[in-house]
Amino acid sequence: MQCKITQQALKKLAKKDYLLTQEDIVSPQNIREGEVIDIYHQTKFLGKAIVGRQNKGIGYIFTQNQFENFDTQLFDKLFKNAQNYRKTIKHKINSNAYRLFNGESDGLCGVTIDLYDDVAVFSWYNKGIYYYAQDILKSFISIYPEIFSVYEKIRFSDNDILFESRLIYGEPKDYVEIIENDVKFATYMNEGLMTGIFLDQREVRNYIKAQSKNKMILNTFSYTGAFSVVGACGGASATTSVDVANRSLDKTKQHFILNDINLANQKIYVMDVFDYFKYAIKKNLIYDWVILDPPSFARTKKRTFSVLKNYKELLCDAILLTATNGRIVVSTNASNFKKESVEEMIRKTFERMNRKYVIEKTFQLPDDFKVIDTVPYTNYLKVYVVKLLN
Ligand code: SAH
Repeated sequence: MQCKITQQALKKLAKKDYLLTQEDIVSPQNIREGEVIDIYHQTKFLGKAIVGRQNKGIGYIFTQNQFENFDTQLFDKLFKNAQNYRKTIKHKINSNAYRLFNGESDGLCGVTIDLYDDVAVFSWYNKGIYYYAQDILKSFISIYPEIFSVYEKIRFSDNDILFESRLIYGEPKDYVEIIENDVKFATYMNEGLMTGIFLDQREVRNYIKAQSKNKMILNTFSYTGAFSVVGACGGASATTSVDVANRSLDKTKQHFILNDINLANQKIYVMDVFDYFKYAIKKNLIYDWVILDPPSFARTKKRTFSVLKNYKELLCDAILLTATNGRIVVSTNASNFKKESVEEMIRKTFERMNRKYVIEKTFQLPDDFKVIDTVPYTNYLKVYVVKLLN
């Protein structure tokens, strides 16, 4: 099938942004999920796209070569490239868990693959690419024969698929222990969409571990307590972890125990962060480090939170709870919250609170999470270590 795209869409291609949206398509309109289509501008052949609807678009141009198909030959090539790209990176990481394949940045939109020791986890983001899952898996195994088992996560909605996570290759190995920078993490390969650790925050964890000696740390939106655990391993005098999800209590405790950390100085609260802030401000609690790493969007019984609208409120509270010369970690993985806007939010919030700060350190995605420099949404992680001066 032939598909014509707009003049505007050409500009995106020039920036290596190969994701197509509905607005890019002139004709036809009735393309099917999983279909491979030839892309033209007027009469000029531009490439071939695979149709797959996901939050960011409706399809992805996977080649500009007329003779290349969406098949194992292509997948073999992309996996070899991805493996080569990480050859030196993987030795620098100091962890047995990292990203092996990062979606569009490695050439296939709609699939990411993470390694947890010898277990691989595929995450699928659209149904179109999922039609090719068998071939992609086959090719993956041929390039990475050392992989012991493979799990998959379904991150698109489809009424016919009744599971979120399952084993698709090898023997079950649901529990994997990760050792990152001498800190152990308990990860679960087959419990819903998340595993217990966010691999893209590795460098931030390393930094916090290195800076935490004798510090009081407040870790909000703490999930399994990863930032608290690295803090405690780095010699923090006490940590407080706050997360509204019930699961966070046991998982966080388990992480401390796994690392031989005495639980006496580690507080864990299952509660809404905004409620904890109210309580802590009333009690005049003060921390050396306050970590803010909220989800892009969350709905609890009490309120809806969106980073774009509500981050400044979080930061205001964090400032009130941070010691002079203390640090606030401002982190967001929202691709629609642009770097410049995050920086402006920080500036305006401090201005409004009449306080001074300096940005001590910034982090973006680590190298294994490959990005396309000219395509901002692939570079979604923004982390600022903000030092409060007065
Ligand atoms: N910082 C964590 C990851 C955070 S994931 C890490 O590095 O591992 C986001 C977490 O925010 C989830 O565990 C979710 O339960 C929690 N959450 C969402 N809304 C919340 C709220 N209003 N109060 C407290 N926790 C919340």
